[in-house]
Amino acid sequence: MGSPIATLVADVFMNWLIDNVNKIGCSPQIICRYVDDIFCTFDSKEKMDQFYYNLNKVHSNVSFSKEVEADGQLAYLDVLLTKTETGIESTTYRKNNHTGLYNKWESLSPLQYKKSIIQSLLHRSYDICSSYQLIHKEFQNIKSCFLSNGYPDWFTDKQIKIFLNKRYENTPKNKQEKTTYIRRILYLPYLGETSLQLEKELRNFFRKYLKELAHLCLIHKTHTIGDHFKYKDKQAHLERCNVVYKLKCSCGHSYIGQTQRNLKFRLDEHNPSKSNHQATDVVKHLYTYPGHVTDFKNPEILASAFNYRELLIKETLLIQEQQPEINVDNFLPLYTSSIRRFYVKYLVDAQFLC
Ligand SMILES: [Zn+2]
Repeated sequence: MGSPIATLVADVFMNWLIDNVNKIGCSPQIICRYVDDIFCTFDSKEKMDQFYYNLNKVHSNVSFSKEVEADGQLAYLDVLLTKTETGIESTTYRKNNHTGLYNKWESLSPLQYKKSIIQSLLHRSYDICSSYQLIHKEFQNIKSCFLSNGYPDWFTDKQIKIFLNKRYENTPKNKQEKTTYIRRILYLPYLGETSLQLEKELRNFFRKYLKELAHLCLIHKTHTIGDHFKYKDKQAHLERCNVVYKLKCSCGHSYIGQTQRNLKFRLDEHNPSKSNHQATDVVKHLYTYPGHVTDFKNPEILASAFNYRELLIKETLLIQEQQPEINVDNFLPLYTSSIRRFYVKYLVDAQFLC
């Protein structure tokens, strides 16, 4: 569907479209919609054809295709609906080209990932299937599917047991319960047994020394084949955003800064010859020493970040490490003003944890 906003716009448009179709008349008995996938029931073929005609008439750029039940069955999203004498029953639908290939048992990925795959499939089947017989059948399908992916029987059985116990346990969860501890999220690469050992040691450390104060949330990152094939064109240096940059002056002094915006736009603000220049440390330096020259076309990019917090932390650490002479506030004991505003608590906590 493209960018996240596209789904929202598509949903709004579809609401408008369905409202208009309903105004024309010939509404279905039941209508369900997931973005642009619509499920409808009608009491006659004529009404269905009329509704389909109306649907395609509302907007000239939108054309729907339809799928009608065959042998009393119809698939909608991942649900297979079947007509029976007593009503409609539902079970999980898999496309004909579904290979049943999942993360292999022998693959170098955390055990938690393998558990989660099975749990999510059990969860889906349990929610979709309309009777206990169908749920049982689906669970058997999942079991044989994972058996062919190398998973031992006892492992899948254990996951089914955990899933069902969770579903039917009688202890009500108190969602109002407040957690007073701080969550510390730590990302680590997954390297097999070494990572598991490190995780164990970290958890023991947290349990022993931090108990109620902090809770460790450890996420193992795995590599995909795609990580090794960068297909996107490299972005031009000056067009990049969310970066920590370094400017060098002809006197040998330097300046480190960060920007969330286009780098070129930010560098223009440091350039006294540009109309949009600001009273930055670089501008002050160049006014103080008129003979000095700064190359604004070739800044060094020291780091990039995914969010503002990460950007500020990286900028602060780099300033602390390199002590650039042109930065006026690089000798402040507790980092720059911007970081103080947002992250003093974070950094103090981090120090406490060290
Ligand atoms: Zn200089």
